[in-house]
Amino acid sequence: IVEIQNLKKAFGDHVVLDGINLSVRPGEKVVVLGPSGSGKSTMLRCINELEVPTSGKIFVNGVEVTNPKTNLNKVREHLGMVFQRFNLWPHKTVVENVMLAQQIVLKVAEEPARRKALELLKSVGLLEKANDYPASLSGGQQQRVAIARALAMEPKVMLFDEPTSALDPELVGEVLSVMKRLADSGMTMIVVTHEIGFAREVADRVVFMDGGHIIEEGSPEEILVAPKEERTKSFLARVL
Ligand code: ATP
Ligand code: MG
Repeated sequence: IVEIQNLKKAFGDHVVLDGINLSVRPGEKVVVLGPSGSGKSTMLRCINELEVPTSGKIFVNGVEVTNPKTNLNKVREHLGMVFQRFNLWPHKTVVENVMLAQQIVLKVAEEPARRKALELLKSVGLLEKANDYPASLSGGQQQRVAIARALAMEPKVMLFDEPTSALDPELVGEVLSVMKRLADSGMTMIVVTHEIGFAREVADRVVFMDGGHIIEEGSPEEILVAPKEERTKSFLARVL
């Protein structure tokens, strides 16, 4: 459902992605690991064309997003993205935050948008916060709202870029458990995270990146327990 072919991205003469190939099947959960600066965020941002690749092709749900003729807004509807920082609208209530994109992008009427938003807030355990403002929520709660907001678009693929790394340690678990439930529901997910426990439990495949390359990939056991490459071993020794 996501197909990345020989993706290269350079900022000026700084090559950040140097020939990435990755193919993600429907329902698959891929966890991407790698040191800071290895190009993980850039790869995710290329998938929804928040960054324009220097070369290579990317297909989402059969549509080539790297083709300049492609209507990116249409493709982005299929891609939910959750960042490290949640960026909720501060002057909108929680439920309004989850309603907004449905109303503006999908032209859903107010009542159905609200119904769906409330249903999603319930699924992330925040129904009782629906009419509060984001600032009154904890970081973990705000991130769960951000997940509900992304899900409101009924994406086919969810992209997560270190969704828990800005959170206090005691709030990480609640966000990961929402993500685990989403994984169990069959969602296709590409998750950049340093949470090795999440990778072990949820990933169908773990991809280790370094220096703009995929160094190795495989099942969680293969990569986390018995990595072949020196760079993977030394990275894991640092994060485990
Ligand atoms: P981290 O774990 O710290 O989030 P990352 O693996 O996500 O790292 P990227 O954010 O993809 O790494 O960055 C890869 C490299 O690209 C870094 O050297 C970074 O400085 C550079 N880079 C990223 N975005 C830009 C940009 N807009 N302009 C110039 N350089 C950039
Ligand atoms: Mg990053």
